[in-house]
Amino acid sequence: MPKLGEVKIKKHRTAPEDWKLKSVTITQEASGKYYVSVLYEYESQVIEQNDTDKTIGLDYAMNGLYVNSDGSCAEMPHFLRQSEKRLRKAQQKLSKMYVKGKEKQSNRYYKQKRRVAVLHEKVRHQRADWLHKKSRDLVNRYDYIGIEDLDMKGMSQSLRFGKSVSDNGWGMFVSMLTYKAEMCGKHVIKADRMFPSSQMCHVCGCISPVTKDLSVREWDCPACGTHHDRDHNAAMNLKTEALRIVLL
Ligand SMILES: [Zn+2]
Repeated sequence: MPKLGEVKIKKHRTAPEDWKLKSVTITQEASGKYYVSVLYEYESQVIEQNDTDKTIGLDYAMNGLYVNSDGSCAEMPHFLRQSEKRLRKAQQKLSKMYVKGKEKQSNRYYKQKRRVAVLHEKVRHQRADWLHKKSRDLVNRYDYIGIEDLDMKGMSQSLRFGKSVSDNGWGMFVSMLTYKAEMCGKHVIKADRMFPSSQMCHVCGCISPVTKDLSVREWDCPACGTHHDRDHNAAMNLKTEALRIVLL
C-alpha cells in the first residue's frame, strides 16, 4: 500500500488473472478494525434467464423480513435483540466511566467504547451476512422475483411502525437482490406503489375493505369465500403481478 507499506490481510477469494484492478478503499470502523474493499473490472456475458415457472412473490413482513408466495416466512433472526442484553450492559459500563467536562477521558473509557462498537459491528455484520445468503439463494432459484415498492422512510416515520422497520434491513435486502439478479440475467419486479397486494383476493380479484386495518392478519373473501392469511395472499398477488408485467 502507498504510505502504509506492507499490510497483512485476510483474503477469502483470489481474483482471476484477466480482472483489472481499479481501486482499493480502506475504511476503519468504530471498533478499530480496518476493512479493504477492492474494485475490479471484468468482461462478463449475462445470459437472460426467462423461465416464468421460476417466479416467486415476496411480501414484506415486519417480523422475519418477508412471506413468500409458497406461504413460508424468511424467518430472519432478530440479531439486535439477541445482543441487546450485552449491549445494554456494555453501554451502561461506558456511561459510568464518562467524566463530565473532561476533554480527554481515561484509557479505560476508550477501551470500553471500542467494546461497545465491536458489539454493534457484530450485529451489523450478522444481518448483512444473513441478507447476502438469502438474496443469493433466491437469485439462484428464481428467474423472476416480485416484490412491493415500499416507502420505508415514510413507514418508519409513521408512528404505527417506528424503529422496527428501519431495523430489519428490507432496503438493504432489495438492493442486494437487485444487483445479484442483474449479474446473472434475472429480474426483480416491483409492483406499483398503488397495487393493492394486501387488499385483493388472489383467487377472484375482489378488494376487501377489512384488510385496510393492518391488525387483520387473516380474512375471508366477501365474494368467493376463500380464507386468507394476509401476508401469504399478498405474496401470491405480487407473484401474479410480476408475471403480468413480464408478459405485457
Ligand atoms: Zn375471492
